[in-house]
Amino acid sequence: MGFADLRKRDRAALAAELEAAGAQLKGDSCCCPFHEDKHPSAGIYQNEAGFWMYKCHSCGFCGSVWDVEAKSRVRLPPS
Ligand SMILES: [Zn+2]
Repeated sequence: MGFADLRKRDRAALAAELEAAGAQLKGDSCCCPFHEDKHPSAGIYQNEAGFWMYKCHSCGFCGSVWDVEAKSRVRLPPS
């Protein structure tokens, strides 16, 4: 198992990426930082492979810690 897999299995890593993107996790749910979200329509869950995944039921974005990281990087202004 490589580092990529280990990170996908790490709930804290996914939570940290979401918080960096502007989300505030309450338990396993949060408001989606990737669209204008007034109610928590997003959340995290562990899939069959044991990976922690993010899923927004409103804008449809879903993915692992890597996808969340990549998407939040895109939103940041270039440094
Ligand atoms: Zn969303």
